[in-house]
Amino acid sequence: MVPWPGTTLQSWTPITPAEQAELDALFAEVDRLEGTSCCGCGRELCGHASVIAIQMGAKDAPRCVVCLAQALELPTEDFLGRAVDFLARRDCYRTAWLRAGVREGQADPMRPACLWQAWPTAPAAHTASDRTASTPPAVVHWDLGDEGCGDLALALRCRMADVGPGGLVVIHATDPGAVQDIPAWCRLAGHALLELTPPTYRVRKKS
Ligand SMILES: [Zn+2]
Ligand SMILES: [Zn+2]
Repeated sequence: MVPWPGTTLQSWTPITPAEQAELDALFAEVDRLEGTSCCGCGRELCGHASVIAIQMGAKDAPRCVVCLAQALELPTEDFLGRAVDFLARRDCYRTAWLRAGVREGQADPMRPACLWQAWPTAPAAHTASDRTASTPPAVVHWDLGDEGCGDLALALRCRMADVGPGGLVVIHATDPGAVQDIPAWCRLAGHALLELTPPTYRVRKKS
């Protein structure tokens, strides 16, 4: 998929203070996410991936384009085409996207190599039938060590999205805060805490 054939992306210059504030806020969000790790797979997010994560509403549990595409059951390249097509028509996002390209020294602003060439063989999205066949796994093991994605509850929420209803999760977490955080998160999210023997926790996802 070639996004917006025949068009050239142009940066947008805010006119009103409100527009400027909106753009500044988006830039600040991108700067916050850039360099952080995808909660799904651990890939580092570049500026472009950060812009896409924000536009997809995933800024609190940032995911790379490969994981976002999988969540939507789209091949990565199709997802990228759609995401860029979307942001091209929105002044703030388009400007943040172009800013990322300049900062990263990307020659092609429309198809930056950081996304299009770094992950060309990214696994295609699971189809609905694949997903039914492969999930929910009977037991999922997570080794969180002494850290999650900076925030244990956020890391758990993000990973739980990949577990089917009723799935059993065995968590290994040595973070001293986990003994409070994991039960609190279970109560809040409605999951059943079956075992609490730090550093091991067994959780059943709500159905
Ligand atoms: Zn990812
Ligand atoms: Zn990039």
